[in-house]
Amino acid sequence: MSQEKIWLSSPHMGGAERDFVTEAFDTNWVAPLGPNVNGFEKDIEKYLDQEVHVAALSSGTAAIHLALIQAGVTAGDEVICQSFTFCGSSNPILYLGATPVLVDSERDTWNMCPQSLKMAIKDRMEKGNKPKAIIAVHLYGMPYKVDEIHAFAKAYSIPVIEDSAEAFGSTYKGQKCGTFGNYGILSFNGNKIITTSGGGAMVCHTMEDKQKTVYLATQARDDAPHYQHSEVGYNYRMSNISAGIGRGQMQVLDAHVQLRREMNAFYREIFSDINGVEVLIEKTDDYFSNHWLSAILVNPSKTGGITREDLRLALEAQNIESRPLWKPMHLQPLYSNYPYYGGKVCEELFNNGLCLPSGSNLTNDNRERISNAIKALFVK
Ligand SMILES: *Cc1c(COP(=O)(O)O)cnc(C)c1O
Repeated sequence: MSQEKIWLSSPHMGGAERDFVTEAFDTNWVAPLGPNVNGFEKDIEKYLDQEVHVAALSSGTAAIHLALIQAGVTAGDEVICQSFTFCGSSNPILYLGATPVLVDSERDTWNMCPQSLKMAIKDRMEKGNKPKAIIAVHLYGMPYKVDEIHAFAKAYSIPVIEDSAEAFGSTYKGQKCGTFGNYGILSFNGNKIITTSGGGAMVCHTMEDKQKTVYLATQARDDAPHYQHSEVGYNYRMSNISAGIGRGQMQVLDAHVQLRREMNAFYREIFSDINGVEVLIEKTDDYFSNHWLSAILVNPSKTGGITREDLRLALEAQNIESRPLWKPMHLQPLYSNYPYYGGKVCEELFNNGLCLPSGSNLTNDNRERISNAIKALFVK
């Protein structure tokens, strides 16, 4: 294990981040407001290329929490959420004392199944609990079936919280992910496609929504010279130091998308010669994934018995990090008592899937080590 560790996804600085952070120090804007926060928001708005208003926050999870509040979710309400996701998507439902209603995935994009969604909405409505919001997720950067999901949401007038935490830079029919939902969510955690060391954002469609978000994120202060509060607020604003890192990262976002897509092509090439391993790719030209993480499905009945766990351990033995796919929320101890709609699609993805090192900063030497480790296991 003397070789350097190859990470699944690690921070990759472009160079300008330090200048923005230094400027923040030099001008003493070391606070959760300042020119970098405003500048970062403007950079994201320009990048998303729609009439949107962005509020920079302390995390993607915080953004989902505030989106649920603005969708009117309170204790006892029901909220539909894709089961196959990271807990950051669903935990804010529990923060509010609301009930998660979990929905299975489909095989094309691995994201929310439109048919299961429809079943869930209808059944909950028959039981007298019309869901207050739908949280749909573009997992691993792959856009979900936007047209179908949003058509059902619209038919039943339920707002969509579009969890684009893993899909900054992805597009669906040419439009940037994060701009489809009533509220769009971005994350800049350390392992995401760009990072602010930790942070997130909400993409809003009106200035009022953005102002409400910023108000809630800064302790919901009334307009008065003293500190006066009429409703509960949160301390969720992004710091000007983090935003400085974000401004530098925005300069390299498209380059990082390109590099991650090249990692995906690298895996497609390796596995084109190996039976029983499927790489998650776009099924039609409508989809453009940033391929934040390259993910595979291993079918042991076609690999001669080799499982994803065999591959994970073989990589680990070479000091190469890989990780099983997200464990579906309906299979988590914390969520096991909540309603679930669908079959076993996401459960099977979890049982047989693996995320492979996907960083934009991997070297040719790293790729050779990864390729050798995979081939040593599969090609006997
Ligand atoms: C990372 C992530 C989040 C939460 O973002 P944080 O900034 O880590 O709070 C939410 N949803 C998904 C799908 C994520 O991957």
